Amino acid sequence: MTSIQDKIRTLKREKNAVILAHFYQTMDIQEVADHVGDSFELARRAQETTGDTIVLCGVRFMAESAKILNPQKTVLLPAPDAGCPMADMVTPEDVRALKAQYPDAAVMCYVNSSAAVKAECDICCTSSSAVRVAKSLKEKRVIFVPDQNLGAYVASKVPEKEFILFHGFCPIHHHVAASDVKASKAAHPDARVLVHPECTMEVLELSDYVGSTAGILEYVSKSKDSEFIIGTEMGVVERLRQTAPDKIVYLLSPRLLCPNMKKTRIEDVLKSLENGVYEIKLPENELKDARACLERMVAVQ
Ligand code: SF4
Repeated sequence: MTSIQDKIRTLKREKNAVILAHFYQTMDIQEVADHVGDSFELARRAQETTGDTIVLCGVRFMAESAKILNPQKTVLLPAPDAGCPMADMVTPEDVRALKAQYPDAAVMCYVNSSAAVKAECDICCTSSSAVRVAKSLKEKRVIFVPDQNLGAYVASKVPEKEFILFHGFCPIHHHVAASDVKASKAAHPDARVLVHPECTMEVLELSDYVGSTAGILEYVSKSKDSEFIIGTEMGVVERLRQTAPDKIVYLLSPRLLCPNMKKTRIEDVLKSLENGVYEIKLPENELKDARACLERMVAVQ
């Protein structure tokens, strides 16, 4: 019997499609993907791909970013309701109001934002590039949307600039508490604590390493230590158990599960390829302005 994964691989070849999957996707999807990465890696891969169709297994803003960077290609999001609550916290109107209030400031947006918001901003960043991007700006004042936690982390690393932080947050990372870190450290005293900068400053201050999902994966694979407490979405723990079986990894908190990232099922990926659904379509002017915002980030890398 042909498995769903086999059918997907056959259809991919027939349709000259590529599958890009985020690290937070389930392992059966990661196994059929051409590339697995964090938001930045997926944006970069989307820009390099020679496929006619990109199937983005992640959440909507990621598929929008792939479309922005490849306006001539068909970009499909297998689970149309997979959104990012943090991205939805900021609107283009919010950004316009901040720009009116701080006309001398550069406007920087986290990649976890809609295409419409990116179109209003000067430059985009990912969690791995945020500090570099902020340092590259000539303006002294920087409006940062939507993540208050990543913004506060960047501000702590770039003290020469003044940051105006929007009040958005990731509901998954924001609710990890300092007490979770203390309890986990007490239970696993030899483990290093690695956390994502979408967590609060209190949590970051208790950790040994702060980095993007890709940064955390690399840290574990290169480290001489053998035990790690992982403070990001549980998909990273699943991946580490497969790719670094000699290391012992613990999830910092059972709350680190993003329901939106788990909305895409392997059956949805098959349906997406079979029926060409659900196609991302963006207005022409939004595409153009959001593309300039994303390309400025890529140029800083
Ligand atoms: S983990 Fe947080 S930031 Fe990432 S998609 Fe889920 S809600 Fe959005």
